[in-house]
Amino acid sequence: MAIDLDKARAALLARKQELEALSAMAEDARDTVTLDQQSVGRLSRMDALQQQAMAQATERQRAAELQRIAKALQLIDDDEYGWCEICGEEIPEKRLEIDPSAAACVRCAGG
Ligand SMILES: [Zn+2]
Repeated sequence: MAIDLDKARAALLARKQELEALSAMAEDARDTVTLDQQSVGRLSRMDALQQQAMAQATERQRAAELQRIAKALQLIDDDEYGWCEICGEEIPEKRLEIDPSAAACVRCAGG
């Protein structure tokens, strides 16, 4: 297999750090929303709730990606990295360069 595992691992760890930093920043932002909500009127409170819902959705996406990253890192350790989890074919290197946490080939992932 042509995939550079060290490079993939480094990319995964970098992305993991980025996600964790974003998550920490979002947490600070959530605290700010709570404070605003107490000091301003009803309309802004609705805005705040909407923002909160969006932040929660983003947070769920981040958690899902962190899970994929953890799984990919485990696969690298097990020397099983780079194979489609659905059809078992090799995932093209180009795809893994774009998304090192990809667990399925383009065809199985549906594009
Ligand atoms: Zn596949």
